[in-house]
Amino acid sequence: MQGRADRQATNAPDSWYGEERIMVPTNPGRVVDLRSDTVTKPTPEMRRAMAEAEVGDDVFMEDPTVARLEALAAERLGKEAGLFVTSGTQGNQISLMAHTQRGDEIILDDNCHIFNYEVAALAVLSAVQARGLRGRNGILDPADVRDAIRPPNIHHPKDSLICLESTHNRGGGSIYPIETLRQIRRIADEHGLAVHLDGARLFNACVASGVPAKDVAAQADSVTFCLSKGLAAPVGAVVTGNRAFVDKARRARKMLGGGMRQAGVIAAAGIVALETMVDRLREDHDNARVLADGLAELPGIKIDLGSVQTNIVIFDMERKELDAAGLVLKLAGHGVKCFAVGPNRIRMVTHKDVDRAGILYALETLRTILR
Ligand SMILES: *Cc1c(COP(=O)(O)O)cnc(C)c1O
Repeated sequence: MQGRADRQATNAPDSWYGEERIMVPTNPGRVVDLRSDTVTKPTPEMRRAMAEAEVGDDVFMEDPTVARLEALAAERLGKEAGLFVTSGTQGNQISLMAHTQRGDEIILDDNCHIFNYEVAALAVLSAVQARGLRGRNGILDPADVRDAIRPPNIHHPKDSLICLESTHNRGGGSIYPIETLRQIRRIADEHGLAVHLDGARLFNACVASGVPAKDVAAQADSVTFCLSKGLAAPVGAVVTGNRAFVDKARRARKMLGGGMRQAGVIAAAGIVALETMVDRLREDHDNARVLADGLAELPGIKIDLGSVQTNIVIFDMERKELDAAGLVLKLAGHGVKCFAVGPNRIRMVTHKDVDRAGILYALETLRTILR
């Protein structure tokens, strides 16, 4: 058992085993970094756009590049307005602040990012309580959502918001089926609840499913998506919704210190990300498929191939002598980086800075270790 102080020292987002301390390859000839799509570097076109960005003070709403990014994001998602924020976490928490009152209850699945990886911000910033439901690969059953909504009673917290996540991070990159989203939207409407979609990897879901972003976003009152994951921008996320929501969200962002002045310098990369990096996510999904198929053939590895829908591959180790942390360490020695997300569970994420050759190298390395 690791001590609490030990575990607090870990800043690997999807793990609790302190892997960042063993991430230095002993044989750094080649590095294939499959820890997260957040490691992607900006493209040359992004760097040019950043250097040349027209800027102003965005707190005065005078930065034309930020305004262009927000309008583009809103247009892509079919929403009235967008708000450029520092991170996906900030976007989610601002959305909670805008949708809820102190003492409300929000309904979410208990593996979601908002509940597990945002430092209890929902309790600290919004003072709401979370009702965690168990989804299937992170996808909630609409009947469970309906059952969880409490009737009005002086003893009960008020349910005001349902939070959904697509693609689902701990669910292994799973996609919310559009029909399920529609059913949950209907239930929310019947009971007067708002719906927030944590779409950090929304465009992965859309590219893989063929369902347009607008159709997905139409099922939620607010949608956050990240520019700095598979879309490869250096910084930022966008929150979208109707104008009244975005006005509230803008005040919440200011309260959290997220008023960023000449933010056009980074928003410029976000515009390039939306315009040039969405369709190529297909390559990441193809690489994840190759990786998953290769893993399925290795001895002592258990993987649910059906759960691999986008760019996240999660698998279990079934070996007595080697647990997940042990495999992570061995892989790191060969320059292959990934995270343990459970005692015997490993996560690998594909992205633009790992090509097919890198995937094959990772598989070859695994084959050598597990032989
Ligand atoms: C990464 C992620 C976030 C948070 O994004 P940051 O920009 O790292 O704060 C939120 N939700 C999901 C599902 C994520 O995967």
